[in-house]
Amino acid sequence: MADVAKIYIAGEWTEGTGDEAHELISPVTGEHVATVPIASKADIDRAVVAAREAQDDFRHWSAFERADLCHRIADAVTDLVDEIARIQTLEQGKPYHAESLEDIEEANQYFINAAEDIKRLGGEVIPTTDRNKRMFTFRRPVGVWAAITPWNFPVTIPLEYIGPGLAAGNAVIAKPPEFTSLALLKLAEAFDAAGVPKGLVSIIPGGATVGEALVTHDGIDAIGFTGSSETGRRIVSQMGIKRSIMEMSGNGPTIVTADADVEAAAAAAVYGAYYNAGQVCCATERVIVLDEVHDRFVEAALKESEVVRLGDPFDEATTMGPLNNEPTAQKMDRHLADAAERGARILVGGGRAAGHPTDLYYDFTVVDGVPEDSLLSQEESFGPVLPILSAGDDQDAAAIANRSRLGLQAAVFTTSLHKAFWYADRIRSGTVVVNDSTDFWETFQPFGGAAGTDTGWGRGRIDEFTDLQTLVIDFGAPGDEASG
Ligand code: NAD
Repeated sequence: MADVAKIYIAGEWTEGTGDEAHELISPVTGEHVATVPIASKADIDRAVVAAREAQDDFRHWSAFERADLCHRIADAVTDLVDEIARIQTLEQGKPYHAESLEDIEEANQYFINAAEDIKRLGGEVIPTTDRNKRMFTFRRPVGVWAAITPWNFPVTIPLEYIGPGLAAGNAVIAKPPEFTSLALLKLAEAFDAAGVPKGLVSIIPGGATVGEALVTHDGIDAIGFTGSSETGRRIVSQMGIKRSIMEMSGNGPTIVTADADVEAAAAAAVYGAYYNAGQVCCATERVIVLDEVHDRFVEAALKESEVVRLGDPFDEATTMGPLNNEPTAQKMDRHLADAAERGARILVGGGRAAGHPTDLYYDFTVVDGVPEDSLLSQEESFGPVLPILSAGDDQDAAAIANRSRLGLQAAVFTTSLHKAFWYADRIRSGTVVVNDSTDFWETFQPFGGAAGTDTGWGRGRIDEFTDLQTLVIDFGAPGDEASG
């Protein structure tokens, strides 16, 4: 890897014209990986101008031509999988064999899904009151999107915007965080290989300053944001009249009812808590267990937690790597100290693990007797922790689940069809998964928050990357009233 990374602006590989750079240190090794240039205002303007020019032509491509382009990108991405997955592990920390490879093997799917979806996205013919008029709707591209994305899935989350964005005829400027940008920059080589028109996609790593420059830019038509509710609130206050998809924080509850398969629930909950070291928006952030099955659940969860092997994420036996960054580790420290102070019992783990190259390796932690007013219960912890709360009955469990403004994806374990629907009808959450982990995910799954909460809006469906245009035609000849 070159020491100074090149960023991808307007179809060119460049160090940009900015005088700032980020020294990217691996959370895995603690060593310098590369220096990432931070784009200047002039670089951002150049990317926006190029995107507008490229999109002005691209919007006339037929859906089938755009689908072909997406398939070519998917093919080119496939050739890069191993290298992207290794870079992702080095800069993000997720285990290469257990997670990163599989994650990147799916990267082409965001283009394939979008190519399939766009060919089937039709308009309507709407009946009119006038017999000499016809009314149709068309799906038009929105224009230029800025995709502002987090560090937990540094490649696939940007692709949730780039894939359908391109398929629907838009240009996309992606802004990954500067400290997890190299894997996505590697993937951008596929855009060149596939013949993506220059300027249609740019990748501009950076933090809040670069993000704000895009959010407030007159040349940006729409914002795709995935990140924390706190940043989302700020973006919404700044973006003005722009289309948006906002995907934000979660505090995913898993409810274990009295008739649940308790062992299956424990396996799914532990997986949802340690996968990607818990740094997942739909991680199992709270387990709400009915009193009748509490002791069995705790026993099964402790047994299941033996599958977690914290270590070098390039080692085949490792199932959990380090946390990505110090603020996330500090949040875990804070949440666990607060829980202990409020009387919760830490049964396994409880802090940072010694003997690793960095201080970001965190022990998998199981906490029982978690009070509802604790930070572990109230906030998104975003670390490898399984907080267990108790509920007296189903009403109580649903009420606890809903006393959070972060209802992104919830899980319910029950063998009763009645209870499955009973909970689905009551839990305020964008997705409810019955008898699987909160971490359940498919690349084509409509995914997003629940209205009225702080989780955002938009489900990432292809039609959300389009504007609806209505065409009305009056074909009656003047003086030809008898034509009908
Ligand atoms: P974050 O909000 O700190 O950052 C997200 C992105 O916003 C980054 O690219 C960051 O540089 C940028 N940003 C920060 N300040 C900005 C500003 N003022 N203006 C414009 N851009 C700005 O979030 P994070 O720590 O990177 O990610 C973790 C969060 O993301 C968690 O809350 C997690 O639940 C959430 N997340 C949600 C989903 C989802 O689909 N709902 C998926 C993954 C992660």
